[in-house]
Amino acid sequence: MTEKSDKVRVRFAPSPTGALHIGGGHTALFNWLWARHCGGKFILRIEDTDLERSTKEYEQTIMSCMVWLGLDWDEGPDIGGNYGPYRQSDRLDIYRDYAEKLVNEGKAYKDGSAIIFKVEPGQDISFKDIVYGQIDVMSDGLREKDSDKLKDIVIIKSDGMPTYNYAVVIDDHLMNITHVIRGEDHISNTPKQILLYRALGWEVPEFAHLPMILGRDKKKLSKRHGATSIYEYRDMGYMPDSMFNFLALLGWSAGDDKEIFTRPQAAEWFELSRVTRKAAVFDFDKLNHINQEHLKALDPLVRLSMVKPFWIEAGLDVDSHDDKYLADSLTLMAGRGQTAKEMAEFSDYFVSFEPVKARWNAEGIDREKLKPFFADLFSHEWKAEILEQAARDWVSSQEGAKMKDYAMPLRFALTGMKVSPGVFEVAEILGRDECRRRLEFYGMI
Ligand code: GLU
Repeated sequence: MTEKSDKVRVRFAPSPTGALHIGGGHTALFNWLWARHCGGKFILRIEDTDLERSTKEYEQTIMSCMVWLGLDWDEGPDIGGNYGPYRQSDRLDIYRDYAEKLVNEGKAYKDGSAIIFKVEPGQDISFKDIVYGQIDVMSDGLREKDSDKLKDIVIIKSDGMPTYNYAVVIDDHLMNITHVIRGEDHISNTPKQILLYRALGWEVPEFAHLPMILGRDKKKLSKRHGATSIYEYRDMGYMPDSMFNFLALLGWSAGDDKEIFTRPQAAEWFELSRVTRKAAVFDFDKLNHINQEHLKALDPLVRLSMVKPFWIEAGLDVDSHDDKYLADSLTLMAGRGQTAKEMAEFSDYFVSFEPVKARWNAEGIDREKLKPFFADLFSHEWKAEILEQAARDWVSSQEGAKMKDYAMPLRFALTGMKVSPGVFEVAEILGRDECRRRLEFYGMI
């Protein structure tokens, strides 16, 4: 059933034992894409049977990270649904009932307070994965380590909690899950789960395992490669739209010309059958590029809302300006800075003169040469094109003068930087009075 159908029900089933990591966010996103592509349902199920390591705080962070990424769910512990409860710790009776049933049918046995499922030899538990293709496994392969004995599957542990391989089958079946989409590290669990489906007399869902995500050195992505949790990217100034776009491209592509896209576009184009099994490499350059493109395309006021927190964090007094002024400044910056944080750093001079002073002290500046030029400049209307033309006229009237002899000191005095958007455009946005104040401070007028 890989074709589009609104019967499609997929789930993201995180264990709340940590923040939402890149791998988890990727899995959640692919499930979301498939559900939205098919007009089906995306379910959030919390797998909190590891009572010691699971916390409500992690559950909350995972959910808020999903919200940040724009991955909304249709059923889940917070909003309910027809197939709940959606937290495994609230389903313990269900797991016990089915385990007892398996014991009564002779398919499982008790060992103290634990319940163990019997693995019978000679069973073909091969399956066809939508991404990885045919995976051939015989139950005889499920052996105890270094032994000929088949390894039976613990389904209820002695502390009464279900094991992952068992609870996942019960839940995926009772929640009517049609496609199990998860990381490739679960391929080896799948045959065991298939045995349990069969023993319970249930139809086996489709499986689509997602490729592993590697660092640039081709090793499994880990802390060594930099930030691993989704929130760290938010804090670095990456935008949810770009993180979404970037994660979607790990193991999937909509075609070469479709690199920058929105959520609805991705949902429209997404195909499970186009997910590759080749491990995907987490490439920061690509993430930066994608983020930059999204920053450029943003509505000015939305862009402002992304950048403002970083100005505030840098101690700049954003409240002394209105939003239109700040948004216009950033529109002029568009294309500069790959993250909202970088954009805030590159544009601090629009918010305050203080960082300019901290960067530049006007050492070695020939003020006497500049004064008549600025006096002339201030006699014109304060519009970028007019100022630029006036500067050109001035330069051509001076023997041997070059534009940069004037434009560079002006840029330094206004921005404290070597590179900026067109200096006359910067001057126009800052306004005549603010420009005068800055040039006066440096004794250039
Ligand atoms: N709780 C499991 C995990 O986080 C879910 C795996 C699955 O999707 O079956 O790895």
